[in-house]
Amino acid sequence: MATVLDSIQRAAAGKAERLIDPHGRAIADLRISVTDRCNYKCVYCRTGNEGAAYAELPIEDYLRMARVFVGLGIEKIRLTGGEPLLRRGLTDLLRQLSRLRTLDGSAPDLALTTNGHLLEEMAESLRDAGLSRITVSMDAVDAERFARITRVPGSYERVLKGVRAAKRAGLAPVKVNCVLLRGFNEDQIVPFARFSREEGVIVRFIEFMPLGEDRLWTPESVVPLREIEEALRSFRPIVRMAPNAASETAVRYTFDDGVGEIGIIAPVTQAFCGHCSRVRLTSDGKIRTCLFSQSDHDLYGVMQRGGSDEEMVRFIRRTIEQKEARHHIGEPGFLKPSRSMVHIGG
Ligand code: SAM
Repeated sequence: MATVLDSIQRAAAGKAERLIDPHGRAIADLRISVTDRCNYKCVYCRTGNEGAAYAELPIEDYLRMARVFVGLGIEKIRLTGGEPLLRRGLTDLLRQLSRLRTLDGSAPDLALTTNGHLLEEMAESLRDAGLSRITVSMDAVDAERFARITRVPGSYERVLKGVRAAKRAGLAPVKVNCVLLRGFNEDQIVPFARFSREEGVIVRFIEFMPLGEDRLWTPESVVPLREIEEALRSFRPIVRMAPNAASETAVRYTFDDGVGEIGIIAPVTQAFCGHCSRVRLTSDGKIRTCLFSQSDHDLYGVMQRGGSDEEMVRFIRRTIEQKEARHHIGEPGFLKPSRSMVHIGG
């Protein structure tokens, strides 16, 4: 009897330890930026200025922060950047992250977002280090257009090879994310639908958000979900698929013959903040509770001052208590976030 009671108490205590924000959302999804360097200069993201200051912490410091977070109920960790494949020690970090245990005793779900430029040569070692899933960013399926957007010649062929290598390595399902920006690539919707069917990857279109260094964003620059659906229908009838989880950000579709999968992530026209389960850690160790936060919370500062794990836990809890209910994109008085996407971690 005592053991049953004990286990009930332990379970209850475990529940109480989980991070719940003031809006009742369980925070189970941590995104860690491991560098804010990037080898692409995508027109909608970066200014193209070389030599800007960048920030990285030792790999062990990300690991310690991740461990403390996992003890608070984080179940999924996504590594991002900047460009995470530029980061030395990335596979070591993955290997060590895969040894952590979530509150229910399983390994955390490890995912990574990359521009794919270095993926062909790294796909197998990433898998061997414990990566389970990968998302590759591609904003066109046309070599010339791709180079115009990334501002790096020859990038398309490399990324395509990277996507195929990730599939071969079993990093399935490979997701391909395309940010649609009016005037740049809205004509790529149907080509991407074909790409999903031919390459066997999940393609997800993302509405452009006001997060770039160059402040290109206007409401008109957004290609909204409705328009993406219409373009897809002009190709073939689409069929809505059930969400995988309540916190899923993408509305999912396949086609009438069941071949191909498309997701639309519509943070601007159909915000999903009500289900947000995320918290972000920047490459310089600051917590961000929302992409559009006006401030960061310096978790690394706590470590630098010699703070214990318990102090870090208290700091994280206090920070999560300040998580915003939602973003205010497109509303009068919208304030631009305190950092751009490349310095937050997408
Ligand atoms: N370098 C990696 C990559 O390219 O996937 C990871 C970092 S990147 C900042 C992560 C994702 O954010 C990319 O898919 C990128 O297209 C997306 N992104 C950047 N700026 C964005 C914006 N203003 N609105 C929507 N998505 C954006």
